[in-house]
Amino acid sequence: MLIERGALRVGFATLETMEGGPPGADITYLLPEAQSAIGFAIPLDKELIRPYLRKELPNARADHEKDNIEVNIRAWRIAKDVRDFLRAEGHKAMSVIPNNKYREDVPGWQASLPPEISLRYLAVRSGVASFGWSGNVGIKDIGTPIILGGIVTSVKLEPTDPIPPEESFCVKCKLCTRVCGFQMFSDKEETVVILGGYTFTYAKRINKSRCLLVCGGSTGLHKSGQFSTWSPGRYDYPEDDYEVNRLMTLALTSQKKRPKIRDHSKGYVPASYGGTGTVQLTCGNCNIICWGDRVETAKNYKLLKNSGCVIQKENGELLVFPSEKAREEFEKMDPKHKRLYYKDYKKKIRKRAEITQLMP
Ligand code: SF4
Ligand code: SF4
Repeated sequence: MLIERGALRVGFATLETMEGGPPGADITYLLPEAQSAIGFAIPLDKELIRPYLRKELPNARADHEKDNIEVNIRAWRIAKDVRDFLRAEGHKAMSVIPNNKYREDVPGWQASLPPEISLRYLAVRSGVASFGWSGNVGIKDIGTPIILGGIVTSVKLEPTDPIPPEESFCVKCKLCTRVCGFQMFSDKEETVVILGGYTFTYAKRINKSRCLLVCGGSTGLHKSGQFSTWSPGRYDYPEDDYEVNRLMTLALTSQKKRPKIRDHSKGYVPASYGGTGTVQLTCGNCNIICWGDRVETAKNYKLLKNSGCVIQKENGELLVFPSEKAREEFEKMDPKHKRLYYKDYKKKIRKRAEITQLMP
């Protein structure tokens, strides 16, 4: 049923094969009677990814955003169809919301973003996909531009095995680490996850708030200053968690006052955060750059690196310039408008450090 509806791969996990994992591996969270979980993956449209990476105006951002939203909705609809089929057969079943739905009962969930059920854990343990260094999951020759779906059910299903390491799409080129503006994940240190006796590894998360700031759209200028995401925010790179925290309050407040990006896609309202506030896609780079083929991924990296930097006009329209020119254009902006995208948030920190140094 899932393959007929467009799934690239389908896999099955059970209470036993998900045993010993982090809270996201608990398939009984959504359904206490759950015995098994079904995972699947459907592809994003790669034709729309390269124009997005190149920052082609006026439609590339909106085209890819629309595809991303539609594929997520499709994954959710297909999961609901399988859920309904299982229920009609007399079983219990729940479908998993594919994205942006977190366990709001966990203290500090806004920072740690714990999913109700981790579709990534389900996918890697059931052989739908395997972990890439970025922590995104992918499939050989397809890479990580996929959207995952899942269903939990009281039916006892036969589990499927993980993809063997020699068949992984990830060649550890680490280009995914170079496209993240605020270096959310490490290029050296690993995280280990054990699920039902299998060990999985991927890059250690340095601080998820770094992704909230960049992928959430508050800022977009890469640490190198050479290129940006589709976000017009231009805050300096935070060196540590303290600086990340200082920037969070400032950047999120300023972002709310900015005009919405003006193109033909209006974004989406995340399932969490009380269903309020619209998010417009500006990054996702670590996910969409990796196509499961060393040469194609390197081409994507080059496109993004040479794609320039975004600034935003007061009417919400985005403009793209080479990095130096973008800096000049930004300097010319009306100071009131400019304040929505940049502030020297490290000034107070520097001052405090100077005072401490002067103290006997
Ligand atoms: S870009 Fe893809 S292949 Fe390269 S390290 Fe990252 S996940 Fe692995
Ligand atoms: S989505 Fe963007 S900000 Fe988030 S980790 Fe990936 S590259 Fe970094």
